[in-house]
Amino acid sequence: LIKEKLLISSCLVGENVRYDGSNNCIEELEKLKQYFELHYICPEVQSGMSIPRNPCEITSAKPLMIQDKVGIDQTIYFEKGAIIALEICKINQIKLALLKAKSPSCGNKEIYDGTFTNTLINGMGITTKYLQENGIVVFNEYQIKDLYEYSSK
Ligand code: SF4
Repeated sequence: LIKEKLLISSCLVGENVRYDGSNNCIEELEKLKQYFELHYICPEVQSGMSIPRNPCEITSAKPLMIQDKVGIDQTIYFEKGAIIALEICKINQIKLALLKAKSPSCGNKEIYDGTFTNTLINGMGITTKYLQENGIVVFNEYQIKDLYEYSSK
C-alpha cells in the first residue's frame, strides 16, 4: 500500500511549537499514520520565530499585516512560513494538508479578527491561503473525517 502524502501542522503531531510552548496533539494520530505519509510543518517556527512568542493576529488583509499582541509587525515571518510550506509540498509532491484551525498561519475557515479580543471571523491563515492558491487542499483537525473521505475518492 502506497500511503498518500499529507502535510500536517507540527503542533497537531505533538511538537511543542505553539506560541505558548505547548501543542495540540490529535487523538487520531496513530490512525492517520496508517493511511498517510506525514510531513510536518510549523510555518511560524520554521520561518524563524521563537518559542514561546507573542500571539499574532492578522490585523489587515490589504495591505497584509500580521502583528503580535504588543503591536510589532511580524508579517515577514508569516510570508516566509507560507513559502516554506509550499516548497515542502512541491519537493514532496504533496497535494493534501491537515492544518491547525484558527491559527493566523494554519487556519482554513476561521481566524481571529485582529483585535486580540478572542473574536473569530471567517477567513484563512497566511500559509493555508497560499497553499490553496497553489492547488493544495487544506483540512483542519475538526475535518479529519472529510479528509479520509476526500482522499479515498
Ligand atoms: S503556526 Fe501552525 S503549526 Fe505552528 S504552532 Fe501555529 S498552528 Fe501549529
